[in-house]
Order: sequence, then C-alpha cells, then structure tokens
Amino acid sequence: TSFVDFQQVSLAYDDSGNAIEDISLSIGEGEFVAFVGPSGCGKSTFMKLCTGLHAPTGGSVKVDGVEVGGPLKICGMAFQSANLLPWRTTLDNVLLPLEIVKPYRSQFRQRRAEFVGWARDLLRTVGLEGYEDQYPWQLSGGMQQRASICRALIHRPRLLMLDEPFGALDAFTREELWCVLRDLWEAQRFTVVLVTHDLREAAFLADTVYVMSRRPGRIIERREIDLPRP
Ligand code: ADP
Ligand code: ADP
Repeated sequence: TSFVDFQQVSLAYDDSGNAIEDISLSIGEGEFVAFVGPSGCGKSTFMKLCTGLHAPTGGSVKVDGVEVGGPLKICGMAFQSANLLPWRTTLDNVLLPLEIVKPYRSQFRQRRAEFVGWARDLLRTVGLEGYEDQYPWQLSGGMQQRASICRALIHRPRLLMLDEPFGALDAFTREELWCVLRDLWEAQRFTVVLVTHDLREAAFLADTVYVMSRRPGRIIERREIDLPRP
C-alpha cells in the first residue's frame, strides 16, 4: 500500500514553465527512496510538495491516504546545513522537536528525564556519546550533521525527509554517515525520501532511485537497487 502518493502532480512557480511536470508515483511505508538529478531539476520542489510546504498546481499529493493541505507534522527533516541552534547544547538541540510537536510538547516538563534518555540513546547510535553537553560550534561538520539527524528522528516520525543532508561533508565523513543512516533505517523502518545530486549516494542508500531530468520536473527513470551491502 502507498504511503506517499503522487497522482499527475504538477507545480508551476510562475509562467516560465513547470518545476514539477506530471509526476505520478507511490512510495510504500518503510521504503527508502532517493531522487537524484542535477541542480535545478526540481528535487527541492518535489520535497516541498511531499511535506505540504507547496500545494500542487495540478494533481493530488496524499500522505497516509490524506490529501496534504499544509505543512505536514508527521515528518522529520534534515538539510545540507545542520542548522543547530548555537545557544543550545547537542542534547538540547536534539530534544527540540519534543518541545514543539504533539503529543510530546504538553508532556515535556513531566517526561523530560525520559526524553533525555531517548536523546542519549539516539546520540549513542550515531556515535555522539560524550558530546551531549557540547555546543554546535564545538562539533565538527560531520558531528553537527549527526546531531541534526537525531533531531529529525527524536519524535519517531513516520516519514524522514532528507535534502542533500551530506552535501557539505568530506567524502570520508559522508560515507560514514551513509552507514549510520542506513543502520537507523534498518532498525526503525521509517519511510525515507532523500534528494541528492550524488548518484553513488542514492544507489548506496536507497532501495528505489528516481532519476530526474535536467529539464525541470520530470522523472526519466525509476530503478530498483539490489546491492549487497556491507
Ligand atoms: P533542485 O532542488 O533540483 O535544485 P528546485 O526544485 O529548487 O531544483 O528548482 C526547480 C526549478 O524551479 C528550477 O528551474 C528553479 O529555478 C525553479 N524554482 C525553484 N524555486 C522557485 C521559486 N520559489 N520561484 C520560482 N522558481 C523557482
Ligand atoms: P515503552 O512503552 O517500553 O517505552 P516504546 O516502544 O515507546 O516502548 O519505546 C521503546 C524504547 O524506544 C524506549 O525505551 C525509548 O528509549 C525509545 N523511544 C520510544 N519513543 C521514542 C521516541 N519518540 N524517540 C526516541 N526514542 C524513543
């Protein structure tokens, strides 16, 4: 069954043409899919349609069977820049969604100790044990990105949206984090939509890769990846 469902979706920002052109596709719950293509091909626009930050100008976008009609609250997000709050420690950055998102926010005071336990568990799985009380500027770029992935997952979202999350990292760190992400996904099986311009990254991480064309907004290929993984 389909978790993210696009039916003949188009989006035009202005009269210069469509940024997304007649896309129909379906992503099952627990799948890991990647969208790959050159800059300007419509990857971010696709992402914003999935998360309800843009409404389609044509067609329909459904998530979990419901037409998306505004910013989606069931997803976690991470971007190229980690965007950690500089005045908060690693731990407090990771806790942030629990202070904001229902149903956690109303319980935050009473359950803080438990939530801190979740954050510590998650930070340990990404290799950040011992850095809980450091501030973002005390962490390397890779560590900041690990923390931002923890923040995206702390409220157990069913959908994880990743927009070039490793784009700013060196090749070693990047491939290390691919493994971290893949391990988290294998353990928890949230649905992942990754957009990237890195075909290797897409093929390493995702089980299904959609290739978008340079001419904006079109999918030119859908490929199932069946790689032996370390
Ligand atoms: P990508 O993320 O793959 O780089 P985008 O989704 O950002 O691609 O952009 C797809 C197309 O839509 C591009 O031609 C871009 O110039 C155009 N575009 C993106 N955002 C806007 C906007 N806010 N207003 C007008 N055009 C936009
Ligand atoms: P329990 O009822 O035993 O807490 P859960 O399925 O809620 O069972 O959680 C199992 C474990 O997963 C908990 O011990 C907790 O550490 C962790 N956990 C639960 N919810 C979250 C969450 N939203 N974010 C991170 N970790 C969580």
